[in-house]
Amino acid sequence: MKKDSRLVHAGRASDRYHGAVNVPVYHASTILHPSVAAMEEGGKTPFDGVRYGRFGTPTTFAFEDAIAAVEGGGKAIAVPSGLAAITASLMALLKSGDHLLMVDSAYFPTRKFCDSVLAGLGIATTYYDPAIGAGIAALMRPETKVVFVESPGSLTFEMQDIPAIAAAAHRGGARVVLDNTWGVLNFQPFAHGVDVSLQACTKYVVGHADAMLGAITCCDAALWLEVKASVAAFGHSVGAEELFLGLRGLRTLAVRLRHHAATALTLAQWLEQRPEVGRVLYPPLPADPGHALWRRDFSGACGLFGVVLARPYAKAAVDAMLDGYRHFNLGFSWGGYESLVIPTGGHSIVRTATAWDPPGPSLRFHAGLEDVDDLLADLDDGFRRLGAG
Ligand SMILES: *Cc1c(COP(=O)(O)O)cnc(C)c1O
Repeated sequence: MKKDSRLVHAGRASDRYHGAVNVPVYHASTILHPSVAAMEEGGKTPFDGVRYGRFGTPTTFAFEDAIAAVEGGGKAIAVPSGLAAITASLMALLKSGDHLLMVDSAYFPTRKFCDSVLAGLGIATTYYDPAIGAGIAALMRPETKVVFVESPGSLTFEMQDIPAIAAAAHRGGARVVLDNTWGVLNFQPFAHGVDVSLQACTKYVVGHADAMLGAITCCDAALWLEVKASVAAFGHSVGAEELFLGLRGLRTLAVRLRHHAATALTLAQWLEQRPEVGRVLYPPLPADPGHALWRRDFSGACGLFGVVLARPYAKAAVDAMLDGYRHFNLGFSWGGYESLVIPTGGHSIVRTATAWDPPGPSLRFHAGLEDVDDLLADLDDGFRRLGAG
C-alpha cells in the first residue's frame, strides 16, 4: 500500500465499531474484567490488551498503530507531548554512567533536559557538529549508549547524514534516536538506520494548533518493550480527546503537508531574491548546504523554514516588521493550518560544539494554508516596515 493510502487505513477497525469509520473516543480509566482469572491472565502480558486507562484504550492503540504506519514500520507509544517523547526515550535508553552524543542543533528543550536532568543523574552529554557524518566514530566511547539526531535541526535547519551516523553508532554499540518532527511522513527512519523515531505530533499530525501530543516509534518489538516499560514506569498517559485529534489530523496529513511545502518553497524562493535577506534556511532550496542530503533521504518537505537577514538591522525595525504582519502571527509551535513567525536570534540559538554567527537577525517562518499571494504581500509589506525602521 502506498503512503497516502496507509494514512487512510491505518489504525481503523470499522467492523468492531458498528461500521463507524473512525475509532470511538474511549473515556476510560477503569476497565472491568469478567473474572479474577481474566485479571490474572491480563497481568501476564501487561502492555497488551485493554486493562487500565493508563496502559491504553482502543483509541490509544489505534493512534499508535497509525503512527507506526506514518513512520514506516515498528511499534509506537503515545505520550502527552513532543518533549515527553524526547525525555521518555532518553530515560528509557540511558542510565547513570552512560554517555550521550547530542546534535548541537537540537531543539532547545532537548538540550536543557540533557544539561539539567541527565547531568544530575550522572549521564554525560557531548554535543557534536550536525555536519559530522561518519566522523561521529571519533566521539564514540565504550559507554556511549545513544546518538541523538535531528535533521534538519531546530531553528538553523542543518541537515545530517543519518545513515553514516547510524552506521558508526551501531558499530560502537549505541542506539540512534531521531527527532523526526520536521520529516513527519517524508523521512522513513528505519530505512535509514534509526532505532527510535519520535515526533511532536502537536505540530503536523494534530495539524490544527489545538492539542499537545507526542509519539515514540521503535524499530522492533524488543526495543519497544524496553521503552514502553520505562514510559509505563513514569506514568505517562494521554487523554482521549488528544488521541482522537491526532487520529483525525493523520487522515489529512499527506495533502496538508504537500500544500504547506509548496507554499513554503514559493515563499523561500521569493525571500532568497530580497536584498534584505542574507540566507534562507530551507533544505529544499538548491542553494541550501543540506540540499543534496535532503534529496537523497527525504521524499518531501514541510512548511517550516528559517531566514537570516543580510545585516544587523535594529531590533525596533525587525519588531515593527513582525508586529505588523497580518498572516504571520507571533506564536511558538508550528504545523497548524495557519502561518506563524518568531524571531530566533540572541539567546534562542545555543551552540557549544560549533559556531552560529549569522550576519543579521534570524527568524523562523511557518507557511500555513492561506493563499500564497496573500502571504507574499504580507512579507512584502513587512520589508517596507523594516526599511523604514
Ligand atoms: C515543538 C517541538 C518539540 C516539542 O513538542 P511539544 O509537543 O511542544 O512538547 C520537539 N521537537 C521539535 C523539533 C519541535 O519543534
